[in-house]
Amino acid sequence: MEISFNKTKVLATVGPASNSYERLVDLVKEGVDAFRLNFSHGEYAEHQKVIDHVRRINREHGTYIALVQDLQGPKIRMGEIENGGVEIREGETIKLRCDGSVSSSSHLATSYTELARDVNVGDSILIDDGKLEVIVTKTDKDVEVEATVKYGGIVKPRKGINLPNTKVSAPSLTEKDIEDLQFGLDNDVEWVALSFVRTGKDIQEIKRLIKERGKDTRVIAKIEKPEAIENIDEIVLEADALMVARGDLGVEVGMEKVPMMQKMLIEKANQAGKPVIVATQMMESMIVNPRPTRAETNDVANAVIDGAHCLMLSAETAVGAWPLETIRSMNLTIQMVEEQHEGVFHRNFTLDPASATFYNDSLVASACYLARDTKASAVIGMTKSGYTAFQLAKYRPKAHIFVFTENKQLLNTLNLVWGVRGFYYDKFESTDGTIADIKQTLLDGGYIQKGEVFINTASMPINEQKRTNMIKLSVA
Ligand code: PGA
Ligand code: MN
Repeated sequence: MEISFNKTKVLATVGPASNSYERLVDLVKEGVDAFRLNFSHGEYAEHQKVIDHVRRINREHGTYIALVQDLQGPKIRMGEIENGGVEIREGETIKLRCDGSVSSSSHLATSYTELARDVNVGDSILIDDGKLEVIVTKTDKDVEVEATVKYGGIVKPRKGINLPNTKVSAPSLTEKDIEDLQFGLDNDVEWVALSFVRTGKDIQEIKRLIKERGKDTRVIAKIEKPEAIENIDEIVLEADALMVARGDLGVEVGMEKVPMMQKMLIEKANQAGKPVIVATQMMESMIVNPRPTRAETNDVANAVIDGAHCLMLSAETAVGAWPLETIRSMNLTIQMVEEQHEGVFHRNFTLDPASATFYNDSLVASACYLARDTKASAVIGMTKSGYTAFQLAKYRPKAHIFVFTENKQLLNTLNLVWGVRGFYYDKFESTDGTIADIKQTLLDGGYIQKGEVFINTASMPINEQKRTNMIKLSVA
């Protein structure tokens, strides 16, 4: 299958608009690198079908499409509502009960049982993506809250509730999340994203569960709470990747703060050599229109320029009318920026000599500088853990990043990483032999051409498969 050579990856959410085998194949042909299964919606049976389809695509088309399981986390929602909605008007006082009852014109209700205990007078309660807002005037610290309506409208069933100024006591991994995670691990998903992460401990906890099951699933911390911003350094340290979850983040911190937070989060993830995904409303208008707005196109371009590894689509591909056009348009924009903006490439970082991986990291950095100076067409890594692949991507070489590994699941995992293209290889006998094999594979596949420079990194002696400690320059 002819696949996109863009460096910036695309993660598409699967839903009714995209969950057939044929449609998934078409999306991959348009340049999707990974699919997101949103566990806020859908039954296991539906998710299972999608998982099976994606695994079949990889088998039949030789692709390494990754799966991202997105866990709902402690998302608070409205419960069911009589007659499909209740209007609340500016200035009026409403009652909000946290007993899971059905909302009616006399009171609203949520199934989040700790709401009255968690909130304090003066806290704001945002409903439906922040479209509606009420301010707490009274709480019995048990089941009932009174609030004055600041921005009114129709409250619809199951809409999200955000409590930006409240310390929410719900655990970061809910019972549903733990159950969903087991389903994901049974299916060997490559990545799991945790919503509403607040601390580094949240990540340690989910990693403990993954390790208990003996799995290599990597963890994405979705940054969408003010507390996550406060604790960002420990979260970056613990997580394998970040997601700038602009939907809830915008509601919780105020959307005017999101653009600079996006840049800060991307910078921190890149400094740590970890992937970072920019998510939500990137092509929102394409849910209904075959073309994006100018503002959306600019947003996509700027996320690439900021240094995102991966751009995500939500409703656009899950329920939108134009999923294929959305991917095509996004990839064209990515391509234009990568062709025209040198600033996307060749990043420098100051390395810490006290770090346990200092020699290894310096060597990978040098390989990328060498690739830049010699205008190499490829820089090549070999890895078992993936570490070298993440490190190569960190320096944003303009050369192709080709990664060879005998770890089949890792090939899918790495599909989310900026610029990385994986190859299966398991004959680690001699360094010279391996480098010759790799050259042949790349020439045969048309990935490099005769006369082009390529840079190998490897670990010598090769059969020990330790950390990368060698650079070799060759001409094909
Ligand atoms: P969600 O996360 O789509 O699962 O809510 C992304 C976001 O909040 O931006
Ligand atoms: Mn969210």
